[in-house]
Amino acid sequence: MVRVRFAPSPTGFFHIGGARTALFNWLYARHQNGVFVLRIEDTDRERHVEGAIDVIVEGMEWLGMDWDEGPMVGGKFGPYLQSRRNTIYYDYLDILCRKNLVYRRDEAIYFRVSHEPQLINDLIRGPVYRTEEKDFVIFRSDGTPVFHFVNVVDDAAMEISHVIRGEDHLSNSSKHVELFKAFDMPIPQFAHIPLILKTDGAGKMSKRDTGALVEDYRKRHFLPEALRNYLCLLGWSPKEDREILPIDEIVRLFDLCDVNKNNARFDDKKLSYINTTYIRAMPLDRFLNWGRAILAGISNDQQYVDHVLMICQEKLRSFEELKHFVSYFFDEHFDWDQKMQRDLGKYNPTQRINEFLGAIESLEDFSEQKLEKIVGELAQTHAVKMGDYIHTLRFALSGRTVGPSFYKMLAVMGRERVLKRLKRAIESGAIAC
Ligand code: GLU
Repeated sequence: MVRVRFAPSPTGFFHIGGARTALFNWLYARHQNGVFVLRIEDTDRERHVEGAIDVIVEGMEWLGMDWDEGPMVGGKFGPYLQSRRNTIYYDYLDILCRKNLVYRRDEAIYFRVSHEPQLINDLIRGPVYRTEEKDFVIFRSDGTPVFHFVNVVDDAAMEISHVIRGEDHLSNSSKHVELFKAFDMPIPQFAHIPLILKTDGAGKMSKRDTGALVEDYRKRHFLPEALRNYLCLLGWSPKEDREILPIDEIVRLFDLCDVNKNNARFDDKKLSYINTTYIRAMPLDRFLNWGRAILAGISNDQQYVDHVLMICQEKLRSFEELKHFVSYFFDEHFDWDQKMQRDLGKYNPTQRINEFLGAIESLEDFSEQKLEKIVGELAQTHAVKMGDYIHTLRFALSGRTVGPSFYKMLAVMGRERVLKRLKRAIESGAIAC
């Protein structure tokens, strides 16, 4: 039976690297029909941060990683907070005492190493041998147990079969193998997953780097399934050049032997691209729910808000930009981008707008199709391109040069709003020539 665990130290942040480690454990457990354990490594009292466990729990839930044993759900190997497992640690210390494998020096308790090379059987890196040269502390002078000790005791006591963790822990593994042997416990398989480097490749990503925290993506309205999909690609790939795929399929394909040895590089552009792709593929009702929540309070006319949202889905790149992307729809006093104004001169904008105004003044059918037909006819009559109308009108109606599909935008704004805006554009001098 595969039993894996994610064992975060609650620091107050949920780092991208931690989330990726959690995810690889979760994927492997689900792929193997195994058990995924969440264990909180909170023995470091000096670094105790209020609410830090919640940050991890909420981040995991947001990313859709459920655990079979751990805080909130319990399990037969609990408690799952190391701060509540002291009696277990003393029992294990007893085993080592009886075997004369520990001694006290300067109030701390040391473990006696064997000085023999230890095999770390790593599923990603192959066999690695390392020799621990020096005895190491397992209990500090204040009586608290040290990371190496509690980590191994818990992996042994919780019958963990595979230790999947960041490569930065590879150097600890020989200490851990020594301890497993000292307890006469089976040694788990190891899988040390590659580090995540910063976008520019200059060093390991740390919590201070922009884009390093899961909670920031949540605040920025990223889709959790997009971030999750991206994290799966940091050190693993589904082959055949595929990148975007549903989580069920990733679960089916994921295996530790396909995880890369090489460091992964955090690529925020790729993450944004994946997020955009997921947004475009959202079912409409879900897209509307997300959009409504972000635009809450922007207008009393919920139907208008929904219509605006509907025409934005195919153009929106992120929910983070949504408010800005649609702001002019809800603001009759928006400004025109001065810089763009000069570029419009070549279209004879005032003339184009007046021609269009003439064509829609008594128009009943203000549908996308009808409007497209009208612009086509105008272009033909005046021997100019349809784009001359489109660019001019979009600018006059929104103050911008990009936005949702032009005819959809007109139809959603409606005839009255369009007439009013075009008149304001001309009267205000925003369209000068
Ligand atoms: N608490 C350790 C960490 O957060 C866990 C290491 C491990 O997975 O063994 O790095």
